Amino acid sequence: MWLFLLTILTSYPHKLSRFNDILYLYESFTQKPLFMYIGSIDQGTTSTRFIIFDKQGNQISVGQKEHKQIYPQAGWVEHDTNEIWQNTQEVIGLALGKANLSTTDIAAVGITNQRETTVVWNKNTGQPYYNAIVWQDTRVGNMVVELTKDGGVDRFRDKTGLPLATYFSGLKIKWLLENVEGLREDAEQGIAIFGNMDTFIIWHLTGGTDGGIHITDVTNASRTQLMDLKTLAWDNDILATLNIPKAMLPTIKSSSEIYGEARGVLASVPVAGDLGDQQAALVGQTCFAPGEAKNTYGTGCFMLKNTGTKIMPSKHGLLTTVAYQFGNQPVNYALEGSVAIAGSLVQWLRDNLGIIKKSSDIETLAKTVEDNGGCYVVPAFSGLYAPYWKADARGIIAGLTSYVNKAHIARAALEATAFQTLEVLEAMEKDSGIKISSLRVDGGMVVNQTLMQFQADLVEVPVVCPAMIETTALGAAYAAGLAVGYWTDLDDLKQNWGIAHTWKPNMEEAKRDNLVHYWKKAVARSFDWEE
Ligand code: ADP
Repeated sequence: MWLFLLTILTSYPHKLSRFNDILYLYESFTQKPLFMYIGSIDQGTTSTRFIIFDKQGNQISVGQKEHKQIYPQAGWVEHDTNEIWQNTQEVIGLALGKANLSTTDIAAVGITNQRETTVVWNKNTGQPYYNAIVWQDTRVGNMVVELTKDGGVDRFRDKTGLPLATYFSGLKIKWLLENVEGLREDAEQGIAIFGNMDTFIIWHLTGGTDGGIHITDVTNASRTQLMDLKTLAWDNDILATLNIPKAMLPTIKSSSEIYGEARGVLASVPVAGDLGDQQAALVGQTCFAPGEAKNTYGTGCFMLKNTGTKIMPSKHGLLTTVAYQFGNQPVNYALEGSVAIAGSLVQWLRDNLGIIKKSSDIETLAKTVEDNGGCYVVPAFSGLYAPYWKADARGIIAGLTSYVNKAHIARAALEATAFQTLEVLEAMEKDSGIKISSLRVDGGMVVNQTLMQFQADLVEVPVVCPAMIETTALGAAYAAGLAVGYWTDLDDLKQNWGIAHTWKPNMEEAKRDNLVHYWKKAVARSFDWEE
């Protein structure tokens, strides 16, 4: 058909206006844009991306920029939010420019973000009171200890689905209120406002100090530990316990609806989707049926399983969280296994030890040896998250002998991600009583063949990677596109999913069991370090 249209246009240029009329009539009749795209802002832990997708979920263009990781002291991790907003605008311009598109070609924009990372800024000046405190930051460790004295680590779990940990936003807000001079007064008056990075970007995108909207979605709100999973509203009791003024919190919306209109670099584009990054990947992988799960290998590693409209409590160290809510449809929930350190261990080998120059070198180095040489790396840099939730654990390298060289350490670092995933998967199977038949994967680390093969060997089921691995950005695009009718329904989205690669298990059971045995022993050695 396109060849036919091209022939008509080149042979009969005078017919162009007639052709445009036909397109206009077609679009008015079907109520669907023919040539438009969806934009997606992916504000991640290491970088910010803007990706433009077409109706088949193909990537048309991308702009990407890394931002600084700020480590003021051991266990503290911060981001400069002015830098991130600047990068966001730049990558939008970059992606539009590369594809020669303008804002009128974009039917809607969705936002996905590193979750829990906490920023408080002044709504009159737009300036932050402090750097963003990143999800991996452990500075609130003492608060966790204090709060667990009354009611234990699960005192907020019934309402929020989450254990007390340094991970979630609530305690990070409390720390800011207690440590930044003048902040509490401004917060009580609603001048100092809180957001995760989704809220921060949407506020700036829709006008900032000139009428920017202050909202978040149910998935991001569910990671603050301040929202009741059943009512989907901020919980007054928890707010009172943590002494956080409600006036500083954003309005909670669904993950897919028109929130407002963008200004500036995306002028007039409807802002219509908002999902935390891991929930976005679940949507991007089209895991819409209860029981469907995905595992994302990025800075950390996150497995989410859709549990439908049921809130499923965990007895084996997983989190209960919101999966997504499209418009006024019922909310879907998920079980989640969060691993704090995965790809960031590769970055640590690169930046702190200097044994590789770039992330991809780890595979070349690891392949120079046949196995880990008896060496195990437990990357408990921020304590251990799922399934252990041990804030006092710290990283260790175990099993060192004079035989071990840097290649064994590189291999052990890769294997650590796969071992941690195995333990999360085991917890998920115990919680649900159902064995999975394959594992859908995505994220920056899945290009690593050695890791993916080792993962299949450990979990003993096929590991499946979709053709489009930018599932996080795609999920946010799907949420935005559904809200404006670019995609009609979930079946429309499912058609876009296709397999690029499958890794099949191929390891003797005795060898696998031995590896897992030593891994568990190494994990136990990392406990009870921090006092
Ligand atoms: P995020 O969205 O959390 O910022 P990404 O999905 O972009 O993360 O993945 C980036 C992570 O993947 C980085 O931590 C990087 O070290 C790791 N990574 C990138 N390429 C490779 C590779 N070839 N092998 C192993 N890890 C890699």
